[in-house]
Amino acid sequence: MEIVTKPSGREILAPYQRTTAQVAADLGGDVKAGLSVPEAAARLERSGPNTLPAPRRRGPVVRFLLQFHSPLIYVLLLSAVITAVLGDHVDAAVILGVVIANAIVGFAQEARAEKALAALVAMTQISATVIRDGTARVIPSTDLVPGDLVVLEAGGKVPADLRVAHSDDLQIDESALTGESAPVSKDPEAVTAEAVLADRHNMAYSGTLVTHGTGTAIVTATGAATELGLIHHLVGQATAVQTPLTRKIARFSRLVTVAILGLAALTFLIGVLRGQPAAEMLTAAVALAVGAIPEGLPAVVTITLAFGVARMVRRNAIIRRLPAVETLGSTTVICTDKTGTLTENRMTVTTVATGGHLYDVTGTGYAPHGRLLLAGHPVDVGAHPGLGATLKAGLACNDAHIVPEGNEWKLVGDPTEGALVTSAAKAGIDSVPDRVETLPFASERQYMATLHQDGIVYVKGSVERVLALCDTQLDAGGASQPLDHPAVTELAEALGRQGLRVLAFASGEPAAPGAGLDALPSLTLLGLQAMHDPPRPAAADAVRACRTAGIQVKMITGDHAETAAAIGAQIGLSGEVMTGPDIAACPDEQLPDAVERAAVFARVSPEQKLRLVRALQSRSHVIAMTGDGVNDAPALKQADIGVAMGQAGTEVAKESADMVLTDDDFASIEAAVEEGRGVFDNLVKFIVWALPANIGLGLVLVAAIVIGGELPILPVQVLWLNMTAILVLGLPFALEPHDDDIMHRPPRDPALPLITRPLAARILLVSAILLTGAFGLFHWEQNQGASLAEARTIVVNVFAMTLLTYLFNCLSMHRPMLLRGIRRNPWVGAGALALIAIQLLYTYAPFMNDLFRSAPINAGAWARVTAVAVLAYALVELAKRLTRPSPHERKNYQPPSAFTL
Ligand code: ADP
Ligand code: MG
Repeated sequence: MEIVTKPSGREILAPYQRTTAQVAADLGGDVKAGLSVPEAAARLERSGPNTLPAPRRRGPVVRFLLQFHSPLIYVLLLSAVITAVLGDHVDAAVILGVVIANAIVGFAQEARAEKALAALVAMTQISATVIRDGTARVIPSTDLVPGDLVVLEAGGKVPADLRVAHSDDLQIDESALTGESAPVSKDPEAVTAEAVLADRHNMAYSGTLVTHGTGTAIVTATGAATELGLIHHLVGQATAVQTPLTRKIARFSRLVTVAILGLAALTFLIGVLRGQPAAEMLTAAVALAVGAIPEGLPAVVTITLAFGVARMVRRNAIIRRLPAVETLGSTTVICTDKTGTLTENRMTVTTVATGGHLYDVTGTGYAPHGRLLLAGHPVDVGAHPGLGATLKAGLACNDAHIVPEGNEWKLVGDPTEGALVTSAAKAGIDSVPDRVETLPFASERQYMATLHQDGIVYVKGSVERVLALCDTQLDAGGASQPLDHPAVTELAEALGRQGLRVLAFASGEPAAPGAGLDALPSLTLLGLQAMHDPPRPAAADAVRACRTAGIQVKMITGDHAETAAAIGAQIGLSGEVMTGPDIAACPDEQLPDAVERAAVFARVSPEQKLRLVRALQSRSHVIAMTGDGVNDAPALKQADIGVAMGQAGTEVAKESADMVLTDDDFASIEAAVEEGRGVFDNLVKFIVWALPANIGLGLVLVAAIVIGGELPILPVQVLWLNMTAILVLGLPFALEPHDDDIMHRPPRDPALPLITRPLAARILLVSAILLTGAFGLFHWEQNQGASLAEARTIVVNVFAMTLLTYLFNCLSMHRPMLLRGIRRNPWVGAGALALIAIQLLYTYAPFMNDLFRSAPINAGAWARVTAVAVLAYALVELAKRLTRPSPHERKNYQPPSAFTL
């Protein structure tokens, strides 16, 4: 048998030109039972996994060579050549050695960052529902083969190229392929050969999204043979890790590089014109370029971001768009779903209300073991017609199943419905007449209806919606009586106040025979079932943590206001309650105020989420918003950080999100915010620490050139500092834990520059100390009789030791941190010891003296070097103290609101 996956030159028609039956026959499939399991396995062997080929990456050699692609390296290579020509082979070799070592370090760091980010891609694998041997099963979409029969459902991602075999109002968003964002309706009719991709309404293409309806389809192509695979092949894939921040830093660093290179060239020119020897001026220019250009900065930013992303993964948040890492730290409002995010979404019916009685239901979880009690006494369901009818309605209007697994009972389907299967089973009700028609549950409708073989319609849903469909209710004896709307509403609210999710159940007969569910008859209310959904254990703590961090938490739910408010109170959400009708009635200009005041939003429809986001954004809030359904996609896109649920969420929601939670837990959002803040902190700390070295070196060299005389530091010595101090001390930063107060301060204002004014002042202060200390000692020591080599060694040690003490300044933004810094990050201590050892080697080892022109120095010189370093430490601590926000300021901190910006 031949599997046709593409129209070939022979007489074979493309799948979209043929009927479903022909396509099934061509592919050896079956539009009812699908492939057999062994046949699917055999085909997988032949066709290979349904994955796109890995994007063609640059080979390691090219990536290594690219490390040399920077203006600074060119300067260094050029100077190495010139130095060699001038006969100084040792210097030339040292420069070359450093350049190569630098490339190796850069290469390794880049590889680590890329690995961290590549792991994210692997985590976003999707699954597909496939029918094989006549039964539906969920498999990884990588196992699909041509001829497979797959089931499509709203919210899912199309897993391969498919020929639609059956469509129930199936609509697909093909923007990924065609750029057209309006969803396209799909049906099985064949189309002509001329139909272009966008017109092939009987095909579903890999990577597109099902926005509406359901259907089945036969796989016609997988992996690289799909249309997506073809595009993918053409475009390759851009793996560049870029965010607004990395771009900003890269721009800054390019600017500085150009400026310094210009300055160096100018120095060289002026010096030569003034009659100084060209070789000497070249040395000065090279030293200036090497010392003052912050060449490592962009790499550090990328690596810090990548590490942040990896840490977030460990805390169950997968970042889909890298800029979200930056935005997370600025989040001021988190809008979160209730069900499944703040709560566990493990529903158990605890109360059934019908016929004027409240029945208690015992038992936990989905196990069908428990009893029905009335005032503490077990009841016989036969003698309580209302109870039996309510429970039966719950089982009839239901798509969930419970299955025993070991000692436990597992749920297949929606938790709300699973709870109803269990409550019915506890009363011995486990079957209902076959179903003829279904109106599925939808958030905007808030109910579900089914029509059964015995001609009965069952409806279940929110109390408001179901009551609106009823005009009678069951009494204690099982007879119909007029509906007491206020009494039922009050009862439902009382149950809601206990934090229970309340559903109403009704039944009736179709208005006319054959009318189906399109026109619902007027119904009889059977009763209510109230279910318990425990708050997640970590939710309350996470909400509290957000509050101290100046982040507002707002619950947005489709559930009833009383239930939402009660759950909100249990996890510490306080504020006003606003309902969907309230939002609808609120004019646009008043909405921001109202939304700002409220903490709980109940009976909200997905479209209203978008209005809420916009209202908050009009107040300059930075919003993280959760969502899981197809209809949440617009709000997820509009929010600054769209957060999709990894477990309960649809593929559509995930595609629209910036971040996906693997455990659906609210606490993971809080954790991600914390990591986001940490990333920023570490970046700022690193930059604040590293820049003074560049500025200080630049100043020392410019001063020397302006004043004239010998250079205080030679190019190779500058390179040495770049290699050792920056590496040995800079690495611990990547491993720095977050400050204890990271979630005790307000969110970072995104409008603020990375380096605020006090920090810029701190950088200049340290640069000035380095200039004075290094330049001053260079001349003073020589006046005291030190040799040029000794004086230069002292300059190098001033830089190394001051960077060492300044590292401790930078471990905390506002507080002193000496021994505690070492305790919480041993690498800091290790780095400090390593640097001291290396500097001793540099100063005393004869081979170092040869390579770098260093010279041993005496104890007095060490004392003066230490004095500069300690003085720098003390002055910076003083500056920190003066600019630290007072405890009062912190306590009175108001989360940004109306008055911000
Ligand atoms: P949320 O997920 O925020 O709790 P939903 O939109 O899922 O909100 O539910 C809103 C309301 O619709 C619930 O309060 C409940 O009354 C009703 N409901 C929820 N699930 C179902 C369902 N499967 N069938 C019928 N009604 C439901
Ligand atoms: Mg829900």
